[in-house]
Amino acid sequence: MAQKLDDRHALITGAGAGIGAAIALQLAQAGCRLTLCGRSQGTLQAQVEALREQVPDVTVLIAPMDVADAHAVQAAVQLAHARFGPVNILVNNAGQASSQPFAKTDAAMWQQMLNVNLTGAYHCIQAVLPGMLEAAQLGTPGRIVNIASTAGLKGYAYVSAYVAAKHGVVGLTKALALELARKGVTVNAICPGYTETDIVHEAVLNIVTKTGKTEAQARQALAAGNPQQRLVQPNEVAQSVLWLCAAGSDAINGQAIAIDGGELAG
Ligand code: NAP
Repeated sequence: MAQKLDDRHALITGAGAGIGAAIALQLAQAGCRLTLCGRSQGTLQAQVEALREQVPDVTVLIAPMDVADAHAVQAAVQLAHARFGPVNILVNNAGQASSQPFAKTDAAMWQQMLNVNLTGAYHCIQAVLPGMLEAAQLGTPGRIVNIASTAGLKGYAYVSAYVAAKHGVVGLTKALALELARKGVTVNAICPGYTETDIVHEAVLNIVTKTGKTEAQARQALAAGNPQQRLVQPNEVAQSVLWLCAAGSDAINGQAIAIDGGELAG
């Protein structure tokens, strides 16, 4: 059943594709006003059109920005605030996952993974938090949901920079949750296992190039880490975000919740 969140303004980064698009749809169905962010205006515009087919009365703003650029993030949040008021729900979903053995992980790649996956979340939280706290003081709870990864909770070979960045996201989540615990804002991380999006598609192509496996074998290799022997679906991740945003989830704070078919249980 749809949760009613129709007094909330939700800002989602990386909202034009994959997990972010699925989150946008579920929050739109719950009645949120949406600000959709990503680097590509065209991708976001296409996403708005897709959303309108499913939720014709969705109230939505596009605010393109690169999360690694603090000034661009501030400008996008100001635009969003001017249109819909303070952000009540921030979903830090934008991310990139580059793969290399550690010896080939140069400083540029290392920095890129940290900038987008970790510092990007920092920039967005810095930009929205003053307004979110004011709104929380006036009675509208705040929610920060960081899309981390199972790579924020365990290691995987050949993605050390990504793993380090996602562990950082989980650490940021826990520290900030404690800091904001009495201020009406919860901070949680969602940690998906391999999920069927472009990131996994790229990982499959990478495995094919580097190992000579077929695409089907490469997909199977990724799914094999999940005890359910399948890839997670974006809407399953989005469902958990919706649940964290709902009334009744106020006591869930500082958690890193794996959506992984049980991968981390073993
Ligand atoms: P995706 O389909 O590639 O989507 C990533 C999104 O992030 C795109 O919309 C992209 O839009 C945006 N983005 C990338 N760099 C950005 C930047 N610098 N500034 C703003 N937006 C940026 O990947 P996804 O699988 O849905 O990933 C979403 C999140 O889930 C990521 O944080 C990822 O690490 C995490 N995750 C994914 C998996 C998985 O297996 N798929 C597993 C665990 C965690 P533009 O290119 O238009 O900017």
